[in-house]
Amino acid sequence: MANGIRIGIAGAGLGGVAAAGLLERAGFDVVLYDQAPGFSRLGAGIQFGPNVLKILAQLDGLDKELEAISCLPDYWVSRKWDDGTVMAKIPLNAERPRYGAPYITIHRGDLHQRMLERISPERVRWGHKLIDFSDNGREVTLTFENGAVETVDILIGADGINSCVREKLFGMDEAVYTGWIAHRAIIPGQAAKALGADVNAKWWSDDRHIVCYYLDRDESEFYLVTGEPAEWTSRAGQLPSSREAFREAFKGFHPLVQGYIDATDVVTKWPLKTRQPLPVWHQGRTVLLGDACHPMKPHMAQGAAMAVEDAAVLALSLARLGVSDLNHTFGAYYTARKERATKVQAISNANTWLKQPEDPYWCYGDNVYDLSFG
Ligand code: FAD
Repeated sequence: MANGIRIGIAGAGLGGVAAAGLLERAGFDVVLYDQAPGFSRLGAGIQFGPNVLKILAQLDGLDKELEAISCLPDYWVSRKWDDGTVMAKIPLNAERPRYGAPYITIHRGDLHQRMLERISPERVRWGHKLIDFSDNGREVTLTFENGAVETVDILIGADGINSCVREKLFGMDEAVYTGWIAHRAIIPGQAAKALGADVNAKWWSDDRHIVCYYLDRDESEFYLVTGEPAEWTSRAGQLPSSREAFREAFKGFHPLVQGYIDATDVVTKWPLKTRQPLPVWHQGRTVLLGDACHPMKPHMAQGAAMAVEDAAVLALSLARLGVSDLNHTFGAYYTARKERATKVQAISNANTWLKQPEDPYWCYGDNVYDLSFG
C-alpha cells in the first residue's frame, strides 16, 4: 500500500524525525526538510518517559541505545522551594516493569542525533525552509526559500510552534506569550554531586520553579530549567541571560538551588508560548503533528513526547488505513490523538503535574501500539 507514496515532512525536530523513521520503516518514500543548515547539538536537556521509549523501540532498538547513555532516575522528587521538604516522591524507573519501558533524562542534542541516525541520510534535506505549498487534489507542490520546488503525495507539517504549514492551512495568528520564561543552563555534574544533588527534582514556590537533573549515564552534566514570570517583548526564540539574573529570580530558594546557580556559566532564557487547541489538524493532503498543532508550556516534560506519539499514530493510521481516503485516515489519526494531546496540553499549561503525590500511569504507561483503528 505504501509503495511509491511520497511523503514530505517539513521540520526535522524530534516529531518530524520520529515520523520519518517510522514511515520509512512502513515502506513510504519519505523526505525530511528543515530550514536549519545542518544538525547542531543544541544545549539543553530533555526527559522522555516510557510512553515514548516504547515508540523509539521501533527504530531498530533506539530505546536500548538511549538507555545505555542516559540518566535513569528512579524517582521524581517535588520539593518545597525554601526548606526542601519533599512534597511528592513519584516512582519512575523504580516502577519500570509497570510502565513497560525506562524513563530517561538526556541531552537533547544527543537524543536528536541518535534519532537522525535512524533515517537514511539521503532522505534529509537541510537548508530547506518551506515558504509555500499548494495542493491540487492529487499532489502537493512545495516551494522552498532556496529556490527548490518539489512534489509529494502528502505533506506533514512538523515545523513547530510557528508552523508555516499551520499558518497556510488555518490562517495566521501569533503564538500567545504565557507571561513565563524558562532560564536554562548546564553545570558540571561534579559540581552538582559535590552539593548533594537529587538525581531528578523540581523545586516549587508559589509562582516559580526550577527543575534539575543529570543528562547522561556518567552524570557528567547537570541541567537546570525554570519556569518563572517575566516580561518578554523580543521576537527572538531565546536570548542570553546571566548568572546574576538567574540568581536574582531564585533569591531565597534553598541553598542547594543557590549552589547550582552559582555553578552556572552560560545561561539562556526562553519565552514560554502556547496556542489554543485546534479543532482540526488536517486539510486535503496535508496534516500537522507536534507543536505545529498543540504547543504547550513545558511543565509536564511531555511536549516532544506528544510530538513523537503523534508521529507514531500518524504512521500507524497511514499504514493501516491507506491513502485512498486521506480525510478518513487523517480523521482517524486526529480522533486517536486529540483527547490525550489536549489533556497533556492543559495539565502542562496549568503546571500542576507531580506537584502532589499522584499516579502518572495514564501518561507513562500508555502504549500507542495498543490502539486499534476502526
Ligand atoms: P520542534 O522541535 O520545534 O521542531 C520543528 C522543526 O521545524 C525545527 O527543526 C525547525 O528548524 C523546523 N522548521 C520550522 N519552520 C520550518 C520551515 N518553514 N521549513 C522547514 N523547517 C522548518 N518536551 C519533552 O517531551 N520533554 C521535555 O523534557 C521538554 N522540556 C522542554 C523544556 C523547555 C524549556 C521547552 C521550551 C520545551 C520543552 N519540551 C519538552 C517541549 C519540546 O521542546 C517541544 O514540544 C518539541 O520540541 C516539539 O517538537 P516538534 O518536532 O513538534 O517541533
